Amino acid sequence: MFGTAWFSDFKIESGVANTSNTWNFLCVLFNNLDVNIEKNGTKQNIKLKLTQIDREDMNACMRRFQNSMQEMSGGKIKIQYDMVQTSAPITSMSYDEENGYYVSGYDVKDVIDPYLAQGKYDHIFIAFRTGDMNQQGAIPVNDWIGLGYMEYRGIGFSNIRLPDDDHNYIYKYDTRINTFPEEVMVHEFLHTLERNAEDYHMERPSLHDNEKYGYHSQKLIGLKTWYQDYMNQNIQTANRKNRTSCRNLYKKTSKINRF
Ligand SMILES: [Zn+2]
Repeated sequence: MFGTAWFSDFKIESGVANTSNTWNFLCVLFNNLDVNIEKNGTKQNIKLKLTQIDREDMNACMRRFQNSMQEMSGGKIKIQYDMVQTSAPITSMSYDEENGYYVSGYDVKDVIDPYLAQGKYDHIFIAFRTGDMNQQGAIPVNDWIGLGYMEYRGIGFSNIRLPDDDHNYIYKYDTRINTFPEEVMVHEFLHTLERNAEDYHMERPSLHDNEKYGYHSQKLIGLKTWYQDYMNQNIQTANRKNRTSCRNLYKKTSKINRF
């Protein structure tokens, strides 16, 4: 059974001693990445930078994320966030077979720990690039655009990957192509709610099981209706998942499919 206090219960667990429905997000833009990785059996150094377009896209998406969560949840979830950027590069990455390279909280602890020490944040997004089509070299990632279901020091932690191509529309609002560019943020945050629900042994569908429940990715809005029903507990039954990459988000449009 879903409990009626599904979301407020999570807040109690979050370490912040309040039961409000407001989630405080820290979104860190990593302007630089300078990391040694192994690729095709050889060690390589890869350096990448966010572009001004990346930063603008992330700013716009976080604003939209804040509004969408309030709207989609019928006011049950409120988002506050701080957007920060750092020139301190990501210098280490984690690796697993399923996802390839990704960034764990420990990989960027020197940057995020001082923010977490303030005690106000409930969730972290970090945004970075793993490739740039105008440059040689890209970090091998297994096709994911966001990575969720992770935690760091007791709070939700997600990777937001900027596309290799500035002309990709996944994070861009466009009335003809994509009117839900904040989808990756919504999706990754819901993985944290999914994970918390599991900690409470609450029955809930797996976030990636939309097809099983008859929800298909739609032109312009992707899986927005699924997320809305998911966060309002309008979907029933249970499944289990581990940390998981988010390939289903690629299916939105042909433009986005190019990933
Ligand atoms: Zn996912």
